[in-house]
Amino acid sequence: MKYFSSRGGMQPQSFSEILLEGLAPDGGLAVPDHYPQVSLATLESWKNLRYGELAFEVLKHYATDIPQADLTALTTKTYTEAVYGTEAITPVRDLFDGMKVLELSNGPTLAFKDMAMQLLGNLFEYQLARVGQELNILGATSGDTGSAAEYAMRGKKGVRVFMLSPAGKMSAFQRAQMYSLQDPNIFNIAVEGLFDDCQDIVKAVSEDLPFKSRQKIGTVNSINWGRISAQVVYYFNAYLRVAAKVGDPVSFAVPSGNFGNVLAGHIARMMGLPIRKLVVATNENNVLDEFFKTGVYRPRTSKETHITSSPSMDISKASNFERFVYDLMGRDPKALKALWDQLAKDGKFDLSADPRFKEVEAKYGFVSGCSTHADRLNTIREVYQRTGTLIDTHTADAVKVAKPYVEVGVPMVVLETALAVKFAETIEEATGQVPPVPKAFEGIEKLPQRVVNMPISVDAVKQFIATHTHL
Ligand SMILES: *Cc1c(COP(=O)(O)O)cnc(C)c1O
Repeated sequence: MKYFSSRGGMQPQSFSEILLEGLAPDGGLAVPDHYPQVSLATLESWKNLRYGELAFEVLKHYATDIPQADLTALTTKTYTEAVYGTEAITPVRDLFDGMKVLELSNGPTLAFKDMAMQLLGNLFEYQLARVGQELNILGATSGDTGSAAEYAMRGKKGVRVFMLSPAGKMSAFQRAQMYSLQDPNIFNIAVEGLFDDCQDIVKAVSEDLPFKSRQKIGTVNSINWGRISAQVVYYFNAYLRVAAKVGDPVSFAVPSGNFGNVLAGHIARMMGLPIRKLVVATNENNVLDEFFKTGVYRPRTSKETHITSSPSMDISKASNFERFVYDLMGRDPKALKALWDQLAKDGKFDLSADPRFKEVEAKYGFVSGCSTHADRLNTIREVYQRTGTLIDTHTADAVKVAKPYVEVGVPMVVLETALAVKFAETIEEATGQVPPVPKAFEGIEKLPQRVVNMPISVDAVKQFIATHTHL
C-alpha cells in the first residue's frame, strides 16, 4: 500500500513513512492509493476474533511495510482488558427505538480518542526504534485531546510529549488527569493565557523550521493516518456484534468535529462493510451539517465558532473532511486542489450543482443533522428516564440527530465518544444526577501534580523544549 497527497504533490510513501508526519509537503492529507476490499465471506470469518486480532486483520492492509508478526504483537498488546476494563474492548449496549450505543470510551482517559491513540503510542515507539530516531510531540489542549496523547505516550521510548494548556482554565478533574502523570517523558506546561494562546505558540514553534527539525518536533493531531486507520477497526467490530447476519445493513451515528471518526466509518464502508447510513451529528458548530444539506463548505472564523456544552465538537473547520471530498471528486487530486485553492481565495466552495454531490447519500450513505444545548439536555434526560443510564453531551448530540434516520430492521449504532463523568456539569443540569467517577479516578485530584507554569512566550517554550530534549 502506498500513500499519496490528496492534492497530488507528494511522492508515494509507505505507512511507516507517513506515520510520524503531519500534513503532506503540499499542504494536503495522506490518502491510500486504494481501499482494500473485504468480502462477506472474510467478514464472516472474522466473527469470533478478539478485538486485537481484528485490528490486525484490518490494519495489515494499510501498514503493509510493518512485518505481520510485529503488527500482530502491537495490536494485541494495545487492545487489552487491562487497558479498556472489558474483554470486549468496545461493547455494544441497547438504547431504545432501534438504537444501540457503541462504547468507545472505556480507555484510560474515558473518551474515544484512546482507541486510536493507544495504538499510536505503540506504533511510534516501534517505528522510532526501527529507524533509530526520537520524536518530541508538541501540542496544545483545552482539556481532552491532550490527555489522550499523554496517556498513549507515557513511558514510551524515544518519545517525549510537551503539552501546553491554559493555566487555570480546565476543570480540577482535567488538570488532575494530565498533571498527575509522573512519567519523565511527559511535560505539562501551563501557559498563563487562553487555549488560543497555547495554539498560537505551537504554531509559531512549528513554523520555525530549523528549530523544528533540530528538536525533532512532531504532532499527533487528528489528521494522522495511523489514528484514522485504527478507528476503522471498531466499525467492523461493532458491525459483527450487531448485524443479525453478515451482509445485513447497519447504520452508524457519529458525534463529529474534525471528521476523523466518521471518516473512518466511510473508509470501512468503502472497504465493503455493509453500512447503510453514516449519520454526521454536529452541535451548534454546524459546518458539516451545512455541507451535507446544501453542498456548500464554508469553514468558520474563530469568532464565529460557538463555545458549547459538547466542546470537543467546537470546530471552525473539519480537518479530515478533505479526505472524503477527495473520494467524492473521484480521487482526482487536480479537482481536489482546485476546490481547496478556491477555499483559500473565497473562504468557501459550493458543490450544490455538481452531480457528484447529489450522490452523497445514495453512493456514500452520508446524512446529517445538528443539535443544540437544549436538545442535549432533553436527550440526556430522556435516555436517563428510559434506561437509567447517563450519556455524555457529545453522544447525546448523535442520539438526537440519529432519531429521524432510524429505519425498521436496520440497527442504528450511536458512537459513544466520552463518558458522562467528563461533562458532569451538563449531565447534572439535565438530570439532577452527578455521574459516578470510575474507580481508577477516585481521589485523583489529591495526587501530586507535575506541571511548569510559563508566560505567553514562544521563546520560553522553545527554551524549555531545548533544555529537556537532551537528557
Ligand atoms: C474528538 C471528539 C469528537 C469529534 O471527533 P472527530 O473525529 O474530530 O469528528 C467527538 N466527541 C468527543 C468526546 C471527542 O473527544
